[in-house]
Amino acid sequence: MATFKDAPLDPRLTYWQARHQAFDETLARGEQRLAAKGRLRELRLPDGLDFSSNDYLGLADHPLIRQRLRDALDAGLALGAGGSRLLRGNTPLHEQAEQAVAAYKNAPAALMFNSGYDANVGVITTLTGAGDRIFADDLVHASMIDGMRQSKAVRHRFRHNDLDHLQQLLAEDRALKAQSGRRFILIESLYSMDGDVAPLSAIADLAAQYDADLIVDEAHATGVFGPDGQGLAAAAGVAHVPLVTLHTCGKAWSSFGAFVTCSEAVKQRLINRCRNFIFTTALPPWVAVHWLAVLEVLQHESDRAEKALTLAASFRARFAGRLDMGESQSQIVPVILGSDPRACFYAARLQAQGFDIRAVRPPTVPRGTARLRLAFNAKLDAADVARLGDAFEAIMQEESVSDG
Ligand code: PMP
Repeated sequence: MATFKDAPLDPRLTYWQARHQAFDETLARGEQRLAAKGRLRELRLPDGLDFSSNDYLGLADHPLIRQRLRDALDAGLALGAGGSRLLRGNTPLHEQAEQAVAAYKNAPAALMFNSGYDANVGVITTLTGAGDRIFADDLVHASMIDGMRQSKAVRHRFRHNDLDHLQQLLAEDRALKAQSGRRFILIESLYSMDGDVAPLSAIADLAAQYDADLIVDEAHATGVFGPDGQGLAAAAGVAHVPLVTLHTCGKAWSSFGAFVTCSEAVKQRLINRCRNFIFTTALPPWVAVHWLAVLEVLQHESDRAEKALTLAASFRARFAGRLDMGESQSQIVPVILGSDPRACFYAARLQAQGFDIRAVRPPTVPRGTARLRLAFNAKLDAADVARLGDAFEAIMQEESVSDG
């Protein structure tokens, strides 16, 4: 019997091989240009003591959460949702998780998204449109930027956390007559590459003064700040102000996916119009089980957030005035080193000593602000942070000798 090996070669095979190869070579030239600038991104496996993940609470291997998932799977839970939420992918667990996160946030409603990226793009493109104006902080996440780019609203950016600049832009906008759309202010509550926080109540006041709607990305604050980790808007007493808040579950919750909290009407609008919600397979139901288990843990283990924050504060105290740590006030501490090679030098030295710490370079952060992004988490202890501090001292010493 003839086998596959004996089949005649498709004469078009060589055409396709050559065509693909030519394209691969074009692509590779682009990556070589990035490499020449020291900007090539590479996938690396985790290696060393974790000072870089967003598992701030150390929930990635929490025994109770594991047990809840195991029990649910053993009880026969479907492994996949089987469709989008609007088709067969909506299960009682999805609805239960949404009710639970809405209650947790004291919000009228919540909607699950497959990722925080999807949630930001989806919310912004669905709620803003032609005639509207968006005012976004300069440092908002790429997913908010992509949402704005896809929106037909006019876009304005204000200098990071600069209330005067925001007010100036809002005032200029209000001075323009015959505007019919809405104003939207887009911010993060805790900025992911800087670890600093937005002046939420002052921004809430400005929003009220200029009739603007606030959309707040709490990706890095959820789980860490506020009662039971409800976020910084709750901590600042302004949780009722934002039109929408976004919470990712892949960070402090160490799960996956995201949810937004909003009014029931906004939720219905998203269900009916948001392409990032409608045209995608729902998260597997076990993700809902995971979220419910995390909520259970958050109610009983608030000391985890406290621990991560205390460790970060102790590092900042040790290096105050000696390292540029921006305005960090959270578990995220940037060590801003300026040039790309300097950030890479520090990262390489620290990695060689067993710390998983990564250099973050432009375009992820503004030019000239290449940095190490230290993320402190509840699995670390004071001795780990002391050891890291000693390693920094040694590198700073080495640098000053070679400079001198
Ligand atoms: N917003 C912010 C501020 C983020 O840092 C991230 C993730 N880096 C996202 C949204 C996207 O969330 P996810 O990882 O769930 O897509």
